[in-house]
Amino acid sequence: MKCLTGKVVSEGIAVGNAHILRPNSIVRQPILMELEKEKFKKALFLSTEEIKDLIEKNPENEEYLSIQTLLLEDPLLSQKTLLVIEQGYSAFEAITKVIEEYIELLMESTNSYLKERTFDLADIRNRIIRNLDQQSIEKRDTPYILICEELHPSILIQNRELILGVLSQQGGYNSHGAILCRQFNIPYMIAKVEVEEDSILILDTRKKSIKVAPEKEELLQYQILLKKLSEERFKAVSHEGFKFLANVSSNIELDKVVEYDFDGIGLYRTEMIFMNSNRAYTLEEQYEIYLEAFEKMQKKSVCFRTFDIGDDKQLTYVKAYKKGIDNYIQNPELFKTQIEALLRANRYNTLKIMFPMIYNAEEFKQLKQWVQQIQQNIHNHSSFKLGIMLETKEALDTITSFSEVDFISIGTNDLIASIYHVDREQQKEELQAYLNDLLFQLKKVIRFCDEKSIELSICGELAAIEPALKEFIKAGVKNFSVAAPAIKVLNHVYKEFN
Ligand code: PEP
Ligand code: MG
Repeated sequence: MKCLTGKVVSEGIAVGNAHILRPNSIVRQPILMELEKEKFKKALFLSTEEIKDLIEKNPENEEYLSIQTLLLEDPLLSQKTLLVIEQGYSAFEAITKVIEEYIELLMESTNSYLKERTFDLADIRNRIIRNLDQQSIEKRDTPYILICEELHPSILIQNRELILGVLSQQGGYNSHGAILCRQFNIPYMIAKVEVEEDSILILDTRKKSIKVAPEKEELLQYQILLKKLSEERFKAVSHEGFKFLANVSSNIELDKVVEYDFDGIGLYRTEMIFMNSNRAYTLEEQYEIYLEAFEKMQKKSVCFRTFDIGDDKQLTYVKAYKKGIDNYIQNPELFKTQIEALLRANRYNTLKIMFPMIYNAEEFKQLKQWVQQIQQNIHNHSSFKLGIMLETKEALDTITSFSEVDFISIGTNDLIASIYHVDREQQKEELQAYLNDLLFQLKKVIRFCDEKSIELSICGELAAIEPALKEFIKAGVKNFSVAAPAIKVLNHVYKEFN
């Protein structure tokens, strides 16, 4: 038996066989190198086809999308990537490295048009990586512990029922892969492990340990423990004056949300539903999903965030933009269908609609008008609340102009990246570097919301990190939205204050 250790990003215990997503980082053997080259070429081809398809379906977006086609078809990009693979890197590492170099070059430019292109580069990199992932995972029908270079949300969403646990070489606490694992209750550690396909593993985050090929006796003990843990029941403690809300990405999570007695859904990441398909869901399909959510939540409020794409959250059929509103303006049918389905499903008037990546109050007003227009057109009379995610520095700096919103939810993951340039992966580790200043900044938001009676909550991952949560409570925040298993953190901290 071999025992290894790693960094815990989602707690729990998993016992199962290893299933390796892709070869380890350095691919020195020529045969693997050839395989990686082929994988890269195929991923490049598939990504180019996806963009061409997008242009065909949305000719009005041709100007933007053709930049991506040009980048994808640039012979230099593929030559460089193939050369890096020949130096012994995996296709994933090679494309990441080459695009990073391009991005660094553009960032040095003083030309704002060129700087903006870094977003296109990041977009095509993520598209290629997703297409690499699709080729790397061999479909299985028995559950496994996933071993990968980096955990991309699309892999998790599409194989979730089979994934018992995850080990990845790279990643961090607030990556969307880690966020989803915490929501789905899948244990996940960042660790460098070299194991054979199908080796038996025990992943135990309480001990920060990964055991490879354990003894039979130990395996048995863990199986007994797993059964015991699965029978444990949790409930929110009584929490007067506070709201304990849940972050979810699918309806499957809602049974636990109800069992733990959350007060409602504070953040439903709807793009995760969309990522489960290679085409846009129809009005009817979306309606069914949203209605089931309202019904499962037994008339408690459900805050649906309109689809939020970009970075590691990609839809094959849509090009992503940095600003939330641009995604909707560029894909009006997708936005309209989503809003219409939400309004139609809003039988109990428990709907909250939340817009992500808002930069200024004008954007909110524009989206509000659009939603009202859609409601009129379909003769819908349900009542609902409209709000924003506060997750850009620009919105924070102009917060007092947002008096029209019904609620604000602070998305600390993007907000911290936007103000302090600490990327998601490092935010938990670097908490002390920015927490005091963040609290200072949030004071004006809290004051503004109090004055205008705007409901304020925090739905970013910091809400479930104990030292941060305590400071938020001291600062006067009363509503928190966390992954369902983090009910334990909310209970614990709340009890300490009362
Ligand atoms: C956030 O940015 O804090 C947030 C909750 O949204 P996401 O993590 O999905 O970007
Ligand atoms: Mg965000």
